[in-house]
Amino acid sequence: MLNTAITPFKSKLNAPLTKRNIAVLQINLGKRCNLACTHCHVEAGPKRTEELSPEICEQLIELIHRLPQIQIVDLTGGAPEMNYGFKPLVEAARVTGKQVIVRSNLTIYFENGFGDLPEYFAQNHVRVVASLPCYLADNVDRMRGNGVFDSSIKALQWLNQLGYGKERNLILDLVYNPQLPTSEKFSLAPEQTNLQQDYKMFLQEHFDIVFNNLFTITNVPVGRTKMYLERKKLYAGYLQFLESHFNHNTVEHLMCRDELSIDYLGNIYDCDFNQMMNLPAKAHNGETLTVAKLLEAGSLDLINEVQTAAYCYGCTAGSGSSCGGALV
Ligand code: SF4
Ligand code: SF4
Repeated sequence: MLNTAITPFKSKLNAPLTKRNIAVLQINLGKRCNLACTHCHVEAGPKRTEELSPEICEQLIELIHRLPQIQIVDLTGGAPEMNYGFKPLVEAARVTGKQVIVRSNLTIYFENGFGDLPEYFAQNHVRVVASLPCYLADNVDRMRGNGVFDSSIKALQWLNQLGYGKERNLILDLVYNPQLPTSEKFSLAPEQTNLQQDYKMFLQEHFDIVFNNLFTITNVPVGRTKMYLERKKLYAGYLQFLESHFNHNTVEHLMCRDELSIDYLGNIYDCDFNQMMNLPAKAHNGETLTVAKLLEAGSLDLINEVQTAAYCYGCTAGSGSSCGGALV
């Protein structure tokens, strides 16, 4: 039996986890999604209705226009493409010369009303970051639902035909996350460079698919992942496993240090995981923040210290993990 006492994340660090100048806005447009994956930390799905309002969307567009320090606008969800404000935000970011990322589940292009997305992405040079948790059909369908693997393959071929993965401005990245554990035999994601090579060889050989980068992402125990682990009585053991692989070298590179995560109501968090766990960012005066407050202050840099919790061990275990894959 494992001893399941967890060291508070904050005491594991040598110094406070400070914020740097903000360069990335990650906007979570809402919880609507055509899929309902078992590992989804957002608990998104077809029955969810929460999404960005026109008012918050306008504020975000103003923020994007006013603050040149924003280099990347990263759109996530749910399926961001299904939620209000998706195209206006893409276009605001594009017109101001920022990189736009869409975290796409690929299968959305085959739903009614969304067939124009691949061409739209290409026209706007949107960087597509797409989940493909494994290159084997059975594993993907088990995590994401029946038929998801085949649709994902068709979508990747479609993106390739448009030049994705081949042309300089049309970047296509894939995301791998490990299967959820079924017993106390926990493991971290395989080494990113080697796995990327395996993915590239397999997808090229079997489906003639090319892509740019593979990002390996650890299952951070929040949302549906946390509920699953609790149901299986593996939650405490998994946290302890993550803590036992804590790697100090990852801390310098954590994504929460130079990004703001924004929810569909305009509230500000240090990252998407904190957003899902209702742990808001705190300004240096102790106040919580909203997009309206950032506009009023004319600044994104109002936070000194990142809010942390035990699940931060998910980002700092082994090679580390972020929305852009391994950290070291
Ligand atoms: S993991 Fe992504 S595709 Fe799956 S339900 Fe969540 S938001 Fe949708
Ligand atoms: S969950 Fe990860 S990204 Fe979020 S605050 Fe913790 S370490 Fe940073």
